[in-house]
Amino acid sequence: MESTVKCLIIGSGPAGYTAAIYAARANLSPVVVEGPAPGGQLTTTTEVENFPGYPDGVQGPKLMEDLRAQAQRFNADLRMDVVTAADLSSRPFRVTLGGGDTLLAESLIICTGATARYLGLDDEQKYLGMGVSACATCDGFFYRNRSVAVVGGGDTACEEALYLAGIAEKVYLIVRKDYLRASKVMQDRVRNNPKIQILFNCNTTGLFGDDVLEGAHLVENAGTSAEDHFDITVDGFFLAIGHKPATEMFAGQLELDEAGFIKVDGATTATSVDGVFAAGDVADPRYQQAIVAAGSGCRAAMDAERFLLEHEG
Ligand code: NDP
Repeated sequence: MESTVKCLIIGSGPAGYTAAIYAARANLSPVVVEGPAPGGQLTTTTEVENFPGYPDGVQGPKLMEDLRAQAQRFNADLRMDVVTAADLSSRPFRVTLGGGDTLLAESLIICTGATARYLGLDDEQKYLGMGVSACATCDGFFYRNRSVAVVGGGDTACEEALYLAGIAEKVYLIVRKDYLRASKVMQDRVRNNPKIQILFNCNTTGLFGDDVLEGAHLVENAGTSAEDHFDITVDGFFLAIGHKPATEMFAGQLELDEAGFIKVDGATTATSVDGVFAAGDVADPRYQQAIVAAGSGCRAAMDAERFLLEHEG
């Protein structure tokens, strides 16, 4: 079925639902295509302590349920479907859904977020789901009283290491440099946790194990006179080395930065194509915070509203 939509929102993280709330309240009758992971990254996290309005913190999935319910309250049309193709060459933009529908969008807000990065080792794919994971809060449960490793030195890696330390017996934090990039408070928590051992200047060269993961091959001080190769025994290997924006579908149609994030003009959420706006992590390599994503979702809806007003015949 083909239908025309005033304001189409792709993605359902804090940016997508906030854009939907604002667009619905502006009478734009938004349609939200929720995508392959409704609710986005926060549905795979535990406690969120830094979203304003929740003095005692809130569970990530609960926060997303609340945002979704708020969008529904204003009659945003939420579709549990995925976008398989988007043609942005002329307006209305032609967006095809996995379920077979085609939507002709007079304005488009892209909030497709970002997904976890992997190191690129063949072994990661080999042990995926059998020891390798990019989500401690999803899979940590399986490692009660076992040994695990987390790769990365940012806030995500520290957060995952701390979460896993509450479940596992031993947590290695594999950091490629000689310092942590994470915020001071997270660094202190990690350093003060007796279950976490930080392995600085270390890189993973491979993983091993008969059927399931049994350990990782590491190299310390690679390329120097102090280079040292050793193995650690772990049942779980968690990647926390940043995220990749979900923009493949827009490559060649929208201006992206070198890492693939959508470029927006800065003062607004406008992309390089008139009538297409971007909000949330997909356009934000810098902050990647739920509250920032929600704020940019609000801006995108207001930008779309203004655009439609200026372009309505
Ligand atoms: P970051 O980009 O901040 O950190 C990525 C980490 O992974 C860095 O330590 C980086 O090393 C390392 N890394 C990257 N590639 C490789 C590789 N190939 N091999 C080994 N290590 C690698 O990403 P995060 O996901 O941690 O954080 C993203 C943003 O979200 C940040 O702004 C962060 O502050 C924020 N955040 C905030 C939280 C909170 O406030 N509660 C929680 C989680 C995230 P190197 O340092 O050497 O580049």
